[in-house]
Amino acid sequence: MSRRGGYTTMTPTEITATRKLADGRQMPVMGFGTYLLNDQPTMNTAIQTAWDAGYRMFDTAMLYRNEDILGPAIQQLGLPREGLFLTSKVAEIVQGYDQTMKAVEGSLKRLQTDYLDLLLIHWPVREHFFDTWRALEQLKADGQVKSIGVSNYTVAHLELLATKAKEMPVVNQVEYHPYLNQQALADYDQEHDIVTEAWSPLGRRVVLDDPMLAKMAAHHNKSVAQVILRWELQHQLVTIPKSTHPERIQENANIFDFSLDIDEMTMIDLLNKNERTGDEPEIVYETGKQY
Ligand code: NDP
Repeated sequence: MSRRGGYTTMTPTEITATRKLADGRQMPVMGFGTYLLNDQPTMNTAIQTAWDAGYRMFDTAMLYRNEDILGPAIQQLGLPREGLFLTSKVAEIVQGYDQTMKAVEGSLKRLQTDYLDLLLIHWPVREHFFDTWRALEQLKADGQVKSIGVSNYTVAHLELLATKAKEMPVVNQVEYHPYLNQQALADYDQEHDIVTEAWSPLGRRVVLDDPMLAKMAAHHNKSVAQVILRWELQHQLVTIPKSTHPERIQENANIFDFSLDIDEMTMIDLLNKNERTGDEPEIVYETGKQY
């Protein structure tokens, strides 16, 4: 019996595998993060490499200021819209009902598409907490967005949202890696049919120098990055590593030919230090912006 729900048995066997969301739609188990991809040639090379390696989900945000190069990259490379899963996120500065409705129009224009597969609230913001979510519910009803979710929500934020939401988020995208495994939150998500999606799944490289992970990786003839991403999938998370290097984009996708046993999963779980690389959601909630 495992320490946490969701170990090993349901592990996907290929990068194009999907998870069923609570709204009935499917979401790829692995996607490509685009934060800091900020020029057209780099974006085009990354997206082409990722597509060739089998990634079908691309994660952007208003805040990354790169929707207007991701959209053209998809067009220029001739990738079929219906074969893609596009995620974007509502920035703190445009939260609130009317502002969100308007801001999403801008995202669709920049991404050169008439719908998003998934729209997330990037961070919880106290002032606009319920109004922004109401806008997402409306955007979904209108068909501009297929699925709606949140990002950086704690259990407390999710419980608060449940007091007024007509429907609950189907995804919660949070910082998650071996030094911050957010066990209680991931368990809560799972119990409430919310898919946990890992951002900074490689801990923005901080975790890659861990000596125990290096030994485990050598044992499997894999890289540390591959071991970490595999651990995330075996916890039934969705993961979205980012790289600008084609060989790393391919490497990160090549994690479907090995598996970690329960002892290895537990050893990685025990590396948790509650160490964030990003902001603390509660402070963003109170101040209304990333700090
Ligand atoms: P990651 O944990 O994905 O790490 C990215 C870093 O790791 C880059 O420096 C990259 O370098 C390096 N890297 C990637 N693969 C390898 C590898 N195989 N070996 C060695 N180094 C590697 O961090 P991100 O912060 O980018 O998170 C991923 C995505 O999550 C983002 O791109 C974004 O889409 C999303 N995100 C969401 C947030 C939210 O608040 N919702 C916040 C932050 C991120 P290089 O590029 O030079 O190869």
